[in-house]
Parts: sequence; structure tokens; C-alpha cells
Amino acid sequence: MNVSTVGSSGQIVVAGAGYAGLHVALRLTAKLRGNPKMELILVDRHDYHQVLTELPRVAGGTRGAGAVRIPLQDMLATGVRFVQAEINGFDLAGRRLLTGAGPIGWGRLVLALGSRPNDFAIPGLAQRALSVYSASDAERVWAAASKALTDAAAATDPERQRRLATVVVGGGGATGVELAGELAEVLPEAANAHGLAADRPAVQLVEAGPAILAGSSPQLIDKATRILSELGVQVRTNAAIAAVTEEGFRLTDGQLVEGGVFVWAGGVKAPELVANSGLPTGHNGRVKVDRYLRVLDHPDIYVAGDLASVTDPRTGHALPPLAQVALEEGETVARNLDAELEGRPLEAFTFHDKGFVVSVGTRRGVADIAGVTSGGRLAHLLKDAIEWEYRQSVRHLRGWDPVAR
Ligand SMILES: Cc1cc2nc3c(=O)[nH]c(=O)nc-3n(C[C@H](O)[C@H](O)[C@H](O)COP(=O)(O)OP(=O)(O)OC[C@H]3O[C@@H](n4cnc5c(N)ncnc54)[C@H](O)[C@@H]3O)c2cc1C
Repeated sequence: MNVSTVGSSGQIVVAGAGYAGLHVALRLTAKLRGNPKMELILVDRHDYHQVLTELPRVAGGTRGAGAVRIPLQDMLATGVRFVQAEINGFDLAGRRLLTGAGPIGWGRLVLALGSRPNDFAIPGLAQRALSVYSASDAERVWAAASKALTDAAAATDPERQRRLATVVVGGGGATGVELAGELAEVLPEAANAHGLAADRPAVQLVEAGPAILAGSSPQLIDKATRILSELGVQVRTNAAIAAVTEEGFRLTDGQLVEGGVFVWAGGVKAPELVANSGLPTGHNGRVKVDRYLRVLDHPDIYVAGDLASVTDPRTGHALPPLAQVALEEGETVARNLDAELEGRPLEAFTFHDKGFVVSVGTRRGVADIAGVTSGGRLAHLLKDAIEWEYRQSVRHLRGWDPVAR
């Protein structure tokens, strides 16, 4: 396919500057350099990219929110036009993205709008529990935990102190485990700083299923459970939340899990805007795509990242919403857009699993890589290395050298 058939407007529009969208934009920039007829537009509500995998550290107060927001202007070459705007809808027939800055026509659209927290319609959850899906969310968690410690220090009754200084995390997936571990490690010292005994704070992790880190190997789950227990985290499994009230998480068996701060990390779904778009959607509102990552019956629209519903042929289940998956899908989409421009055949997406790493606290973690499970300091170092490598790859793709600036 050549430029003239890519779209009347000759524009590739990338919606979302997260892991998938930013990588599509960065990888395409170089390819489009010799093609002045094509314009690349990146749209996001923020003028920064968020390193979401580092949010548990912001929620635990060990990293500032500014450190996980990378300004887009530092990353985007002049060949990309960035539009900071809220995307409100789609005009599929007219091939236009409807945004707060006006409609933006596409020849090809890449949808990479990520996820939103899924409250599974549990009454009171969205109103009373904090979520962790942006740097601002994570800051709010740390602010709430700090305020809870202040309130606990002002209370005289030890029982009340204990309740106020308890953080309850709902959802025992990777995000919930990382949050619980991080908070359990930092809260005793923070309590001291608030004039509260170090043994007053507590962290509870509430999981509806029979085990934390569902889908992981039993060895990894054992190691993570042991580290959490050493950090003093009380893990409750088979504990489904029926409702959230002023008092706490009410479980389906009637038990009440009390605390001073409630955080929800129990799952994600596609943004509402996509549910109402007329695009074909599947599990959790994710968009159904063909093997080239194009929306079914909409070959002008690609989807990458959490928003794409891609079945893993090894398991028969949808690939999980992970940064690793988003980056690989972003690469395939960039290559396929380039292939369209150059008239080459499209490439089917294949996921190459590099393994699974979860931090558990500020010093330890667990990892399953190439069938080998490890737990402890090494796994945490591995997580640090992955995040460092990610930041380096972004700079490398841009050709941006912060030292030379
Ligand atoms: C706390 C936390 C920890 C995580 N830890 C890990 C981990 O350790 N390892 C791992 O692999 N994965 C992890 N993940 C998952 C990973 O972050 C996601 O899978 C990844 O971000 C998905 O990339 P994406 O490009 O699809 O979406 P995102 O990175 O979320 O990007 C979506 C972009 O779209 C923009 N956007 C959305 N809606 C609109 C709109 N209406 N208008 C304008 N702009 C919009 C957003 O601002 C954002 O920039 C974690 C997630 C969280 C929340």
C-alpha cells in the first residue's frame, strides 16, 4: 500500500502516549522521516508519559510523582505533532477522532488508551477506595496514608490507633502485592516520624480468589507470600468484597475488614469511551483485533496495549494488561504501518514472553524467568533493571541524551 491509499488525510493518528502509543510514535518517527507526505500526530490528555510500573513507589512515598512523569516534549522529535487534548469519542464513518481540541481526521488510527480501574460494580468501592492508575492517584494514596498516621498519633485508644493506621489493599494481583509490600516496608518508619509506635501501622491484602498472583507458578506464589508475611502483611484469600462502607470492606461472608485507608487494585477494564464507540469489544471492554492488531472490520484502526483483546495461543486466554505486552504490540503496529506505506505484507503479532517480575517491598521481589523462580534481593534488582532499561530505551528511540542537553 502506498501513501495515497493510506488515507485521504495522509495522517497517522496515535491516540494515547502510554507504553504502546509512545512506542508506536517513537518507532514510526524515524521511518517517516523520508516521507514528507505523511504526518504523525500523537494525542494525549497529559503532556507527559507516565511510567506506571513505578507507581507503587510513589504510593509508598519513596519516589516523587514528578519522577514518573516524563515530559513528552523531551521525547518527541520534531516529526511528530503532539496534541494535548481529551479524546471524547470517535466518528468511525468520517474517520475522525473527537477531541477537546476539535476533530482530528485519520488515514490510519492507532488506539492505545490503556485501562481504567474496574470496580466490578461493588457498591461503595469507587466512592470510598483509592485507585492507583496515575502518578496523581499514587500521590493521593501516600497522602492518605500519611494523614491516617497523623490521625492515629492523635488518638489515645490503641485499638483506634491500630484501625486508623491500617491500610487495606483490595486485589492480590501484581499491583496489589507491590503496593502492600511497599507500604508495609515504609509505614513503620513513617509512623515513628509521626510520633506513633512503629508497630502500630498494619497492611492487609484482600484477595477474592484462592491465591495471590493468580496464574503464576506455585513456587512464585509461595515466595511472595513468605516475603509479605515477613513484612507483616496480613493476606486474606477467598475474601470477596461485597460492599465498601464507611467502616471498611464488607466481605461476602459478612466479615468486616476495618482500616483507615482503602486502596483498590483488583482489576482493570477498557475506558468507557471505547465501550460506547461502536467498535467490537470483548472481555472487560477490550477491542477485538485480527492477527495484525487491526480492529475487526475496521482495517484503518490498529489497537495496541491494554485496550487490545489479543488471545494468547498458548493459554487460550486474553494476554494480560502488562507493559511488556503493550511494548511488543506497539512494535508490531509500528512495523505494520510502515509495511502498509512500503507495500509490504503485514506481520502477524506473536507475543514473546520475557518473564514475570514483581517487587515485594522496597528491597525484595519475586521473578519467574525462563522457568526459573527466584525470590529475594536479586528479583528486586531485576525489577529495578527492567525499569532503568525501559527509560533508556525511550531515550534511545528518541536519540535523546539528557547528559548532552
Ligand atoms: C500501579 C501499576 C503498576 C504496574 N506494574 C506493572 C509492572 O510491574 N509490569 C508490567 O508489565 N505492567 C505493569 N502495569 C501495567 C502497565 O502499566 C500497563 O499494562 C501499560 O501501561 C499499558 O500500556 P498502554 O499503552 O496500553 O496504556 P497506558 O500506559 O495506560 O497509556 C494510555 C495513555 O492514554 C491516555 N489516555 C487515556 N484515555 C484518554 C483520553 N480519553 N483522552 C486522552 N488521553 C487518554 C493516558 O493519559 C495514557 O497516557 C502496572 C500498572 C499499574 C497501574
